[in-house]
Amino acid sequence: MGKESELKSIFLPFLSTSHIIPLVDMARLFAMNGVDVTIITTPQNATVFQKSVDLDSARGRPIRTHLVTFPAAQVGLPPGIEAFNVDTPREMTPRIYMALAILQPRFEQLFHDLRPDFIVTDMFHPWTAEAAAKLRIPRIMFHGASYLARSAAHVVEQYAPHLAAKSDTDRFVLPGLPDRLEMTRLQLPDWLRSPNQYTELMKTIKESEKKSYGSLFNSFYDLESGYYEHYKGVMGTKSWGIGPVSLWANQDASDKAARGYAKEEEGEEGWHEWLNTKEESSVLYVSFGSMNKFPYSQLVEIARALEDSGKDFIWVVRKNGEGGEGEKFLEEFEKRMKESKKGYLIWGWAPQLLILENPAIGGLVSHCGWNTVVESVNAGLPMVTWPLFAEHFFNEKLVVDVLKIGVPVGAKEWRNWNEFGSEIVKGVDIGNAIGAMMKEKSEELRKRAKTLSDAAKRAIMDGGSSHNNMKELIQELIQIKHSKAQETTTTP
Ligand code: UDP
Repeated sequence: MGKESELKSIFLPFLSTSHIIPLVDMARLFAMNGVDVTIITTPQNATVFQKSVDLDSARGRPIRTHLVTFPAAQVGLPPGIEAFNVDTPREMTPRIYMALAILQPRFEQLFHDLRPDFIVTDMFHPWTAEAAAKLRIPRIMFHGASYLARSAAHVVEQYAPHLAAKSDTDRFVLPGLPDRLEMTRLQLPDWLRSPNQYTELMKTIKESEKKSYGSLFNSFYDLESGYYEHYKGVMGTKSWGIGPVSLWANQDASDKAARGYAKEEEGEEGWHEWLNTKEESSVLYVSFGSMNKFPYSQLVEIARALEDSGKDFIWVVRKNGEGGEGEKFLEEFEKRMKESKKGYLIWGWAPQLLILENPAIGGLVSHCGWNTVVESVNAGLPMVTWPLFAEHFFNEKLVVDVLKIGVPVGAKEWRNWNEFGSEIVKGVDIGNAIGAMMKEKSEELRKRAKTLSDAAKRAIMDGGSSHNNMKELIQELIQIKHSKAQETTTTP
């Protein structure tokens, strides 16, 4: 092992898979750059990334996990439910917040005991700004979203353009942004449409960001430079895009395979073998992230559209507990697809990074979750955009209107991550968008996606924007540590 790390850090992810994955990739990047890293989480949440940390540790990198017991019994949760995940029953989510409140002093004590030089914490831990101030160390906030999404939410909060729209489906312009972007009231997250508890939480988060040393995004300069500048301007804070973090932190197949809930063995007729029989850029990857469940009425529309499209596909699909006719339909559909070799269904969790980099993949049907957008840009793939919840509708604007690498399915209504919502997108609309992406518009979309993919790869190389940001940030943090040490020695 090399010399002892000059900087010691703590990373505190939120309790939800798609916030854990990129923040842990960031933690691993800091360790890759010689910073000593301790990730604090609870046992169940650690299963999402422990294999990756073990791999890095075996490579001699200064990284480890510090586990804190989740107070399940205290808040009346069954063992194993420690996060806001797809299988977390809706009525249990307030109990997870209660558990977080119980854990807060425990986390704070660890900040004190482990004596880090800085902490990096998820946006949903706003209290950590004060905790870091007490210890006189920088807190850096991790944003799970894009610069565009944060900028768009900010202008809606500031100017309320949606209130001037004539109806919920009338389009209005998001004012003051680098591009002319339009949306409808129905596409806005509920907390922006009209104030609720979450609106208050988002205000607290913004305040905590202003009190932090700066923020980190899984983004890179060429992906959304206008929004990066805009965001820094309105917030008046420091911010660093160090993405694509999945590309940078997961450099070989073992890293990619270890990510998330991937199974050890693929089984006999694995997706890999199936995909390798397909032509280049011919297969669709259909996935809606880690948090979504569709009702069977929607799954049936997707299945029909995929079958009618004539394209080969991998579809990552989840049963939703409704059972009955829908479940039977899907079983028969899977059997039919297996026989014809047109489609491959993955139940639950897919090794997304490995699949996206396979040359047979030609495009995605995606919910526009930010991590997936960055991962597909990195793979140079166009996408059919089907936003659902969180800030997906803003991300769709980036993909379709700014970067012009996507075709919208025409989703009309935002919903909560743990609700089905009332909108069912029709098979014919799904089919038309797939047709446009894979046939009519395919060449232009693919060309632009390829240019962005090249930019993504340059960003993390020596001299690239993300690489420089990382280097500069680490240097700044070393400086801060030194000045603090000097202050302490010179203070009488
Ligand atoms: N992911 C995966 N396999 C799956 C589902 C998700 O590897 O079956 C990963 C994906 O690569 C991404 C993250 O989980 O890094 C999902 O984050 P995203 O922001 O795209 O969507 P969310 O889960 O927040 O809806």
